[in-house]
Amino acid sequence: MPEFVCRQCGHCCLNLKEGKKSDATEGDVATWIKARRWDILQYVRPSFVGRQVFAYDIWIHPKTDLPVKRCPFLRKVRNQPRYYCTIQDLKPYVCRMYPVDEDHAARTGCPGWAAEPPGRP
Ligand code: SF4
Ligand code: SF4
Repeated sequence: MPEFVCRQCGHCCLNLKEGKKSDATEGDVATWIKARRWDILQYVRPSFVGRQVFAYDIWIHPKTDLPVKRCPFLRKVRNQPRYYCTIQDLKPYVCRMYPVDEDHAARTGCPGWAAEPPGRP
């Protein structure tokens, strides 16, 4: 059985809806506040029930207040079909855990468990 290997294809960050990376945890937000990463926090919106925060939505465009399709912290490697996360050490829990298992990967288009993904050795 093949092991998971991130192919750096960027699919899960280019198509956030499919990857379902739409929530940050309280811990993520606390980390970003502690690190004074307002550049990250500007893409986070708390959702309230009454006066109580019940979720933190990501990544929400600071000007339109709408979810972005592609993560603003994703960059492409020049002249290569590979992508990387510019907030790797601070990325939210949902990104650190993605994909949770082989089935989740298959359902969301992640090729990380494919034995020989197309176009890669
Ligand atoms: S879709 Fe899978 S293989 Fe591609 S970058 Fe995301 S985790 Fe890595
Ligand atoms: S924070 Fe990093 S891992 Fe998460 S969606 Fe953005 S680029 Fe991808």
